[in-house]
Amino acid sequence: MITPKKIKEVLEHNCINLRFHARGGQGGVTASNLCVEAFYGYGICQPRFGAERMGSPTESYVRLSLSKELIRSNEQVYAPHFVAILDESLMWEINVTEGLPKGGWIIINTDMNQLEIQELIERKDLNIATIPATTIALDVFGRNITNTIILGALIRVSQLFSLEELSNAIQNRFKGSIIEKNIKAIKQAIDATCVYEVEDEIDFTVDTKVAWTQIDPFLPGYEELDKAGVWYCDEDVISYGSKQVKTGSWGEYDIIWDKETCTDCAQCWYICPDFAILREKGEDELWHMTGVDQFHCKSCLNCVNICPVNALSKKLKQRPGTCAVEE
Ligand code: SF4
Ligand code: SF4
Repeated sequence: MITPKKIKEVLEHNCINLRFHARGGQGGVTASNLCVEAFYGYGICQPRFGAERMGSPTESYVRLSLSKELIRSNEQVYAPHFVAILDESLMWEINVTEGLPKGGWIIINTDMNQLEIQELIERKDLNIATIPATTIALDVFGRNITNTIILGALIRVSQLFSLEELSNAIQNRFKGSIIEKNIKAIKQAIDATCVYEVEDEIDFTVDTKVAWTQIDPFLPGYEELDKAGVWYCDEDVISYGSKQVKTGSWGEYDIIWDKETCTDCAQCWYICPDFAILREKGEDELWHMTGVDQFHCKSCLNCVNICPVNALSKKLKQRPGTCAVEE
């Protein structure tokens, strides 16, 4: 485990790099800003956005050091020492371990255990910390905002800043009762984080800067830049249409439909922003609800709130956190 003394020695002559993966609206950029604000040395952060759409993948990058000169870079972090993933579903869409050297850390909002994660990312040389951050967020804030919670897990494994330093940064950034709620959630996160360490030690001294290359539209890879970011209905115009965009992957709830209670009023169909209420024309020539399209439902809960007879309800997807090994 990294100690505060060791991390301070590293920071005197090196830069520590972090990358945050989130979805639009989850606060990944705020998490990276808070990292810099809580850190006792010098820091810089840069966000990278794709499409301006709630739920589309975002990345933000942080550099921390005790030397002002070492953080002077505006390029994205290509080889992070720590990767924080605020939304588990991104692990199926993006190579979240890209550039992570052996002994690096991934910190994930998930209910999976570390052995399941190793299988998914096909690597056994990374340290893994898991935290059921969505469950904590819904309990404390009533919304799936996991950015400060993931920082609690980062405190636990990195020692880059303390709970007190992060609390001060939160007090400077937020106002009112939200301060207390965030600090409560962070304390829960520190306790609830499951840590799985490998024997490989990370080498913080390796230079991770990469040679400059130009990215043009129509070169291989340009499509991934906007993956899951847009919702085009006319697939004759743009082939990357709604059929491929699994917006249902980032919802925190399953929506349960009770057919017996449903009166077919269609209010949920009108209010759903993702055409995720399924209907079919019956023999009576009228449209009837047939279910919820879980591939596209993103858990906005509009339908649950509008249904006049409570025929729709929500069920949290995230299970309690699990640890593969005893610490
Ligand atoms: S929660 Fe309901 S309204 Fe929202 S996307 Fe899912 S089905 Fe549509
Ligand atoms: S709003 Fe409720 S009652 Fe109306 S169609 Fe939807 S599920 Fe059925």
